[in-house]
Amino acid sequence: MANLEIDNVVKRYGSTLAVDGVSLKVESGTFTVILGPSGSGKTTLLRCVAGFEKPDSGTISIDGNPVTDLPPRERDLAMVFQSYALFPLMTIHDNIAFPLKVRNAPKAEIDKRVNEVADLLLIKHLLEKRPNQLSGGEQQRAALGRAIVRQPNALLMDEPLTSLDAPLRAQLRAELKRIRRETQMTAIYVTHDQAEAMGLADMIAVMGGGKLMQYGKPLDIYTNPKNSFVAGFVGNPPTNVLTVAFSASAGGGSLKIGTTSIPLDAATSNLLRDKVGDGSEVLVGIRPEDIQTSMSKRSDSDLEIIAESVEPLGSSIVVTALVEERVFRLVLPPDRSLGPGTHLWLSWEAAKMHFFERKTGDIVA
Ligand code: ADP
Repeated sequence: MANLEIDNVVKRYGSTLAVDGVSLKVESGTFTVILGPSGSGKTTLLRCVAGFEKPDSGTISIDGNPVTDLPPRERDLAMVFQSYALFPLMTIHDNIAFPLKVRNAPKAEIDKRVNEVADLLLIKHLLEKRPNQLSGGEQQRAALGRAIVRQPNALLMDEPLTSLDAPLRAQLRAELKRIRRETQMTAIYVTHDQAEAMGLADMIAVMGGGKLMQYGKPLDIYTNPKNSFVAGFVGNPPTNVLTVAFSASAGGGSLKIGTTSIPLDAATSNLLRDKVGDGSEVLVGIRPEDIQTSMSKRSDSDLEIIAESVEPLGSSIVVTALVEERVFRLVLPPDRSLGPGTHLWLSWEAAKMHFFERKTGDIVA
């Protein structure tokens, strides 16, 4: 397994800047997830690594050797797609054996590797069947087997679980974790599903608008978002981000959200005064789980909201409201008897607020 390095890769399609100067180091043996909304450039970046697309500029290196100009097969990377792309007329054994056969591996070695991989993927009993006799999940295991059978430098996966139904997806996600533990493979995995990313990744690269927005460990991305884009994308529901007006005053300051004024301690107020300026607008992020909710007003600084929709999820309910025309979500225990139109009063500890620059979205620190 190898180190992969993406250095300042740019890829345009006509006037669309699909990948905008992304740099990323994937250490050998790490499972890196590229996470971002649809159209953020994830697939294009992965295809540049695989060699299916040529970047307009920038380099891709494997173990320190530039491979940007090499065709896919000379990079020794394996790719798994959303569609399984198995050969329909071949047995599962022959599908998995195929990459070794075309490299003229001896039959005994092929059989040994196919059996090892089938053991790992729990599909040994399916080896003599054909793809159309398998379920979607089994076919995706076989496709994974075909990808890893020749022990490539790294495994590249593009939304491999998306076409499976939810329970199967959860099961295969757990299996992937086990397989990666047992094989210590270097992997890049593309998904728009942040729960999948959090569950699988050693490292998450969050992409937005073709740019790398943050690269870090899952918990770090979740607890310390570097910008308002990451805050507003990661988490379920994600961080609520509001535009507020900041004003400094002697010994403290305040944030104004609509008609509500929330007091700030001196340290936070000084930071905001220095970084964004007295009287400026700033973005404030508050995680749904950091919000205390009351059915009545307890303090003048409580933020009043009116529930627009209430989604019962079994173990919790998600309440959606509009605050200053922005979507705001709360997670509450299921026993609340709430419906659309209910008034709620919210408060949170000052230390739980994340501040971001109004113009750039960058964290104020
Ligand atoms: P993601 O994988 O995050 O959904 P993509 O990498 O597929 O994003 O796409 C990034 C941007 O590049 C999008 O705006 C998409 O429409 C555009 N794009 C991707 N592939 C092509 C292509 N072959 N031709 C033209 N535009 C493309």
